[in-house]
Amino acid sequence: MVDAKKVKEKLSKVSEKVFSGSKNQAHKHCRICHKPISINAEPRVCKSAECVNKNTRDERNQKQMRLWMFIFFGLFAFSFVGPLILNSI
Ligand SMILES: [Zn+2]
Repeated sequence: MVDAKKVKEKLSKVSEKVFSGSKNQAHKHCRICHKPISINAEPRVCKSAECVNKNTRDERNQKQMRLWMFIFFGLFAFSFVGPLILNSI
């Protein structure tokens, strides 16, 4: 026979575990391999050398990409604004 009291106890214990577990899940994930890492980890990668290297490479690429976008946007904007300025002179 199933003891209802025991089942209830077990359930409350399990839900307690789940609840406190979700509370303790204040952590980040490595942006490369998605391993859980410390919330204070900066940059957002684990301690694996592969991930650290990949992250620095990605960051450099991103910086370069942003620079190019900025240059292209500048040229694009100038091709519109430039003639207007030249005409108004
Ligand atoms: Zn990693």
